[in-house]
Amino acid sequence: MTTPFWDKAFSLIPPEAREVLELTQRHNIWRKKETINLIASENAMSPLALAAYISDMMHRYAEGKPFKRYYQGTKYVDEVETRVMKLMGDILGGAFVDPRPVSGTIANASVFRVLGECGSKAVIAPVQAGAHVSHTKFGTLGALCIEHIEMPYDAENLNVDVDKAVKLIESVKPSFAVLGGSVYLFPHPVKEIAEAIHSVGGKLVYDAAHVLGLIVGKRWRNPLDHGADVLTASTHKTFPGPQGGIIATRDEQLYKRISRAVFPYFVSNHHLHRLPALAITAIEMKYFGEAYADQVVRNARALAEALAAEGFKVLGEHLGYTRSHQVVLDVRAQGGGAKAAVLLEQANIIVNKNLLPYDPPDAIKDPSGLRLGVQEMTRYGMKEDNMKDIARFMKRVLIDKEDPAKIAKEVTEYRKEFLEVKYCFDINPISDGKLYLLW
Ligand SMILES: *Cc1c(COP(=O)(O)O)cnc(C)c1O
Repeated sequence: MTTPFWDKAFSLIPPEAREVLELTQRHNIWRKKETINLIASENAMSPLALAAYISDMMHRYAEGKPFKRYYQGTKYVDEVETRVMKLMGDILGGAFVDPRPVSGTIANASVFRVLGECGSKAVIAPVQAGAHVSHTKFGTLGALCIEHIEMPYDAENLNVDVDKAVKLIESVKPSFAVLGGSVYLFPHPVKEIAEAIHSVGGKLVYDAAHVLGLIVGKRWRNPLDHGADVLTASTHKTFPGPQGGIIATRDEQLYKRISRAVFPYFVSNHHLHRLPALAITAIEMKYFGEAYADQVVRNARALAEALAAEGFKVLGEHLGYTRSHQVVLDVRAQGGGAKAAVLLEQANIIVNKNLLPYDPPDAIKDPSGLRLGVQEMTRYGMKEDNMKDIARFMKRVLIDKEDPAKIAKEVTEYRKEFLEVKYCFDINPISDGKLYLLW
């Protein structure tokens, strides 16, 4: 840190405090300014949302619902939380919203706890079609001792096998079914599964953690319009808000039951400083969400095509590669997912290794694939042509085996053109890129 303020500040604090600040700053510069981030579950908040995020609300409690709290001192929090509920409900085409889960996993836990109980059954999307760990016996479902039964997988379509899944639901008669996932290129069959689960008296949960921003931007079908009873999501993946979770449903009775589970079962304080940032992000998505989501899906397709043209094996070719923000690569020919992910990191391209549908579950430490997401780089202004450049960088690292340290420098140079978040209210001209706090 080289500004006069920090030089002075460092002279007033011990080295152990200084080290923490330096590590944090190095992280900030590396991940926000020097790397191409292709982690599919991450994003960057707008300058306005960031300014709203750092507030005194992070110190406070507001147990209960707005205007019916167990704590005093919440009158402004109540106003903001009410607005979040309204804004998020509106941009989801009308829904009752509970924004208190502090993460997508906590949102799932709250909903699963209401729709099932220990010993009941849930039918979930197959893990090969991207189900999240929280949907499984290894995660939240298991913690609630709800039985995890997987829908059959259709390897040809990289998706749920609809006919077999419907038959399974009709014979098992589960309390609920779960669709949506962490690695999926094509929409899951909401309408068909909703009909099947409703015919046996169960409910359909759609986990939109990854695709919430695409749904709000109208480039992914809104599951609430197609029969899902409840939507859960993270607010920080394609939806570019603060880390957190939400629950939305159009069924008021169900909403009330779920709200009674969120608190007191799964949250006490709900990380209140998320709320103003979430409201600002929702407002920005109302204005810019469609343009953003449109560019995200175009970029994903462009990246997939460019990677294939560079010689990579890209999943889903016969289906047009992708309709989401994600691209999935099979990198066995380049030494496997673990090695490829590390080499790319050395080149300042951040990705995660991932199991592919045909990997055995115990390949988790060195799976065959990489999962890529274009949403964050899209937010920083990248378009289809930039996807070609990213594919070229990746080829040079993984296929041509060029020195990653050399490419890291080129990547950092390349990023210099893409440091401002787009698709948001542009306060850069007056803020000069600096963060101005509201206090
Ligand atoms: C990321 C993810 C979650 C969990 O979200 P957190 O906010 O990290 O708890 C839940 N479901 C799916 C499908 C996800 O991809």
